[in-house]
This record gives sequence, C-alpha cells and structure tokens, in this order.
Amino acid sequence: MTDSQSSNHYEFKAEIKQLLNILVHSLYTHKEIFLRELISNASDALDKLRFESVSGKKFRDAELPLEIRVEANKDKNRLVISDTGIGMTREELVSNIGTIAKSGSAEFLKQIEDDKKDLSNIIGKFGVGFYSVFMVAKEVTIKTKSYKEEEEAVEWKSDGLGSYDINTLNEPMKRGTIIEIELKDEEKEFTEKYKLESVIKKHSNFISFPIYLENNKVNSISALWREPKNTITKEQYSEFFKFLTYDSEDPLETLHVSVDAPIQFNTLLFIPKKNYDQFGYYKNDYGLDLYVKRVLIQHQNKDLLPEYLGFIKGVVDSEDLPLNISRETLQENVIFNKIAQNITTQVLAHLKKIATDDPDKYAAIWKEHGKAIRLGYSDFINKDKFVELLRFNSSKYENQDGLTSLKEYVGRLKEGQKEIYYFSGPTREAIISSPHYEIFKSRQLEVLFLLDPIDEFVMDSVREYKEYKLVSIEQVDPKNLDKFESAGKEEKLPEISKDDEKTLDKLLKRIKEILGDKVTEVRISNRLTDSPSCLVNPADGMTSQMQKIMQIVSKDTSVPKKILEINKDHKLIRNLIKIYTANSKDEYIDQVVEQLYESSLLLEGYLTDPHNLVNRIKNLLEKSSDLHDAVREKT
Ligand code: ADP
Repeated sequence: MTDSQSSNHYEFKAEIKQLLNILVHSLYTHKEIFLRELISNASDALDKLRFESVSGKKFRDAELPLEIRVEANKDKNRLVISDTGIGMTREELVSNIGTIAKSGSAEFLKQIEDDKKDLSNIIGKFGVGFYSVFMVAKEVTIKTKSYKEEEEAVEWKSDGLGSYDINTLNEPMKRGTIIEIELKDEEKEFTEKYKLESVIKKHSNFISFPIYLENNKVNSISALWREPKNTITKEQYSEFFKFLTYDSEDPLETLHVSVDAPIQFNTLLFIPKKNYDQFGYYKNDYGLDLYVKRVLIQHQNKDLLPEYLGFIKGVVDSEDLPLNISRETLQENVIFNKIAQNITTQVLAHLKKIATDDPDKYAAIWKEHGKAIRLGYSDFINKDKFVELLRFNSSKYENQDGLTSLKEYVGRLKEGQKEIYYFSGPTREAIISSPHYEIFKSRQLEVLFLLDPIDEFVMDSVREYKEYKLVSIEQVDPKNLDKFESAGKEEKLPEISKDDEKTLDKLLKRIKEILGDKVTEVRISNRLTDSPSCLVNPADGMTSQMQKIMQIVSKDTSVPKKILEINKDHKLIRNLIKIYTANSKDEYIDQVVEQLYESSLLLEGYLTDPHNLVNRIKNLLEKSSDLHDAVREKT
C-alpha cells in the first residue's frame, strides 16, 4: 500500500525507495537490461490480452494488432516503448507499479549485495523489473488504457526519487501502455538505433510478438520448439535458454522432443548448469511454460513435471488442447495429463541415458540438482526409474567426490552379501570415525555414505534394490557379518579369563547403576574393534539420523535412550575389570563410565551442556599426569 498525500500524489513505500536509491545511483554494468524488462512486461501484457481474446470476451480496440514499438528521439534524449496489450486501470497502476510484487525487496536487496556487478540475472526473478528503468531514466511517464471498456486512460509520472503522481490522461489513446523515458544525460546511447537493435536482438529475440524499432521489425518471432530439430543450432538453443531463464550460462543439457501420436505436442527442455535454489526464493520458481497452438496459456505451469524435476526449464506446446482452456481446469483435462505423463517419462529416460552414456555429465547434474532429484522418493509410480538415478558417496572412494549408483554397488557385493549397507552423518569423517563403522571397515564391506539428511527418507522409501535390502549399519546384527573375513591383522588382546568374564558381568551391572535411566541396557558388544564402547538403537527402532530428524520436526530436545555396548577386548575395559576387582566402589569407574557415555552423546550431537564433560576431562588428565610422571620416574 502507498501513503497518499493528495489524491494524485503518492509516496513510494520505504523498501521501494531503498531499491530505487540503489538503481538510480547504480554503477552497474548491463544497464541495458532495463529494455529487456520493459519489453518483457509489454509481452506479458500482450500474452494476457491474447489469452482474454481466445476466451471470446468483448474488449476495447479489438482490431489493434498485437505488437511492441520502440521509438527513440535523439534530440530530446527520449525513448518510448509502447504495446497494445492489456493496459492498466488506475487501481492496477497503484498496486502493480507501487509495490514489489513477487518476493519482496528485502531478499532482492540482499541478493544484489551478494552479487554486486551483475544485476541482470537477479532483476527479472524478483518482480522489480520495471524499476530497472531508473538506472537510465531521470523521469518516466506511463500512459496506459485498460482493455476493459469502461476504464479511462491514466498517466503515471515519477523521477524515481521518492514519489509519483497519477492523473487522468488528457489526450486520446488506444488500448495498451506507453512508457516514455527521459534518459539521463549520460545514457544517450539508448537513442542510437544500432544500440537498441543489438540489445533487443540479444535479450528479446524470442518474444512472440513483433517488436518494431522505428517501424522495422527486429525480432525473429520463431517458436523455436516448433522448428525441426536438425535445423536448429546449438547457439540458437542456448540463446533461447538464456532468454527463457535469464541464466547467463549455456544450458548443461537440451532435450527437444516432438510427438505426433496419439497426442501432438512439442517440448523444448533444458537442464541449467547451476541451481539457484540456494537463494531460498526459488521454491515456487519452477514449472514449464504451457502454450496451446503457440498462444501462451500459462507461465510456469507446475503440473507438467513433478516438483523434483523442477530444476528443468522449458516450454511445452500442443495442438490438441483447446485454446480456451482455463488454467483452473487444466489438471482435469485428460489430454493435458497424458502430455504431462509423457514428458515426465521422457525426462526420466533421458536422465538415465545421460547417466549411462556420460557419467561425468550426470555427476555434474547430480551435484547441482541432486538435492531436488532426491525428492523423487515420493513418486511411487516411477520408483524403478527414480532408483536408477540415485547416486551416493561410499567407503569405496578416497573423498567426497566419488559417486556410485546402486547398480554399481550391487556389482561389487561380497560373496554371500545380501544387503546394501548405508550410514548417515554430517560428514565423511564423522561416519568413518563412528564406532558403528569399525566392523564394516575391518571386514571391507562397502558402505554408502549418506551426507544429506534427505537421504534417510530416500532409503526409508526405497527399502530395497533388486533383491537386496537397504540397511543402516547401525541396524545390522554383527553376528551376521561373521561370514565375512576380517582383512586387517587386528592387534587382539589375549582371550579374557573365566574370572575376568564373571567380574565383567558385575561391572556391566555397576555401569548400568552409574548411568541409571540414561541407557536402556548395558551389554557386551561384538561390533567394536577400536572403540571401548558405543551407543546402539534397539534393533527394531529407526536409525539415529531419522530419530534426530523426527526430533527436530517435533521440537523434541530430549536425549533418546539407547543401549550401551562395551568392547570387552579393549584395553580400557580390561583395566576397568582390574580396578573393579580391587575396589568395586572406586570413583574412577564412575568417572570413566560417565565420560564414555557423554563422549558418545557428543559424537551423536546430543550433548547440549559440555561443562560436566570438560570438568571431568580435567580431573582425568590430572590423574593420568600423576601416573605418567610416576611411570617416567621408574624408567
Ligand atoms: P513483474 O513484471 O516481474 O511482475 P514489474 O515491476 O516489471 O514486475 O511489473 C509490475 C507489474 O506491472 C506487472 O506484473 C504488470 O502487472 C504491470 N505492468 C508492467 N508493465 C506493464 C505493461 N506494459 N502493460 C500492462 N501491465 C504492466
């Protein structure tokens, strides 16, 4: 909303003032993009009019051709851009031009902070396109007349500093919008025909209405997706992709498909090199542009491809849909749904083909868009195809860059291995140093490393690949691994004596007393080789990572109760047995047990208050330094 000072004079909202301030004083390169933005607005207005006209409603000046005109006046240093589109009413002027529509300027401002030089990628995505004109203008006048017959023509004027005026237009005007720009003195080049022509060709060549520059048509208006594939060059595809997405890079992949039967449609799809999702505003910025007989029916239709393929950009055009179809009823249209299904199938098949023929390219796609692709775990219809698209890092690789498919993993299974092992963690290092991983390492069993929390959901939903079950290494009963030989020469302590074994039983009880309710059980482990102890979930429970995710979702901050497993072949535990034998009440046992427990919590990310742990370490260090000193004096 704007604050009105008099009936015709309005102040810009604070956020717009801030934005304008940046644009007016901008030193940005690529100022020329203002023209792309204004032409794109004009084209939208024409698309809307064309959409209205096919619906059969009556509207003003129906005989006017749908077109965009650019005229420059060198002497007056003025540029005029006009269209015969839908126009705006007074109210629409206030609400469309007076506020920032799409996602708010705060994010926009943050974004330009981050990306100081190149505004061109950002501006179009934020619904602030119109304001970019103030990079080159000292004053702008919008004259506009709505297609609605009862509305009057209005005029908006502003110097882009703080306010604007709206008045009834006192001159005859036909339907559409005229934007008159008084250029800043230093922006004279935007009255040069060659300059304007090159900017229009560069950014607006694919606009589907004629653009006239001083009465000469400058754009080519071909619906590229309708042309035969073999007549289109890579450069043309690339140019179209950039036009469509505002991306400054070439696409990573292009898929151009023409289908004639049983339903006719053409689709031109692209996989961008980069995923801009990280900016956070991208969430709703997906979907394919839907055309019917070359008329744009809907920009970014969200039902032609499932959300997890939303990183794919492009257009779809069909002869077989009715022109007057409403956006609301599209989803119920049988033909539309068949087209959507067909496109999804084509895209999945194409991704699989890339994965097979060009693994490096697929790795690049996975790296940028894998986060989105993983969301496909909810697409049950295409589950088999989806599973083949998954990639994981694993213990087979030296670092995080290695990627394996489930198919490749299965190809490397050890004899007798019936399960696919995985484990989640925030980093590779965290997984590798987890006590749960020890036995898999020593038996040289490959483990998939799940480094993205969403992978847990993927595993939970996929459950098995071919006849192999996917299991978290936490949930594997170590007994089942006995059949796999241990590779390393583990330095083993001598077999535990019968007496010590009995004492160990008592020690376990003592440990349970010390920890009380914090653990459900204390028992001997057969999964550990290097660590003295670890925490384990009950066999039928969820994985720790999933448990953590569920806790975050339900804002539950409690520490889950687990089983504490003790490695009887670890030196520390053997020493504890001796200490226990000498004095079962020795305080030192308490300290060590608490320390082992809290260390596990720390590793699993559950230790919120480190004070006790730090104090205890201080005490233990003090004790061990005494010991060290004593030993040193003896030798
Ligand atoms: P965006 O086009 O991204 O929504 P803009 O700031 O460029 O953001 O434009 C704001 C709105 O003003 C548009 O959404 C449209 O409703 C209206 N508008 C702009 N230019 C025109 C035009 N030439 N004809 C009709 N409406 C227009």
